[in-house]
Amino acid sequence: MPVNSDVQTSRTMPVTNYDPERAPNPREWLALPEQDRIRLVKMYHSGARIKVPGAEAHAMFHAIVENQIAEAHAPTCRTVERLQREGLNRHDAIHAVGLVIAEFMYDAMKGSSAASGDSAQAELDAKVEALNARAWREGR
Ligand SMILES: [Zn+2]
Repeated sequence: MPVNSDVQTSRTMPVTNYDPERAPNPREWLALPEQDRIRLVKMYHSGARIKVPGAEAHAMFHAIVENQIAEAHAPTCRTVERLQREGLNRHDAIHAVGLVIAEFMYDAMKGSSAASGDSAQAELDAKVEALNARAWREGR
């Protein structure tokens, strides 16, 4: 541990590049304003010439998944690690989790889920942990 961790933090270079194959430094990632996180994700996809439907929404869900990983949200961290062991690359694992979150939020907006607050989080975590690489590949 540095003697003065505040000094250490302010010296940390800001994240200027996002690569979904490498987890961003959690502290640097969370220090970015949300719109910068989304911008970096969008820059990665256009730079890598990855075409995704709804680039803005795609980037938003990327950022949400990265936020959960950076915050060490256990179900998300476990699932992304497991999906990679099952053969997905990190980027696809992020997509798989992001899609579950997107669908969950869509259902919540439609009001088809009665859950709210903590129980909604638990329900979402269960859906995330139910992901597996084979189902993800077959669903594409
Ligand atoms: Zn992506």
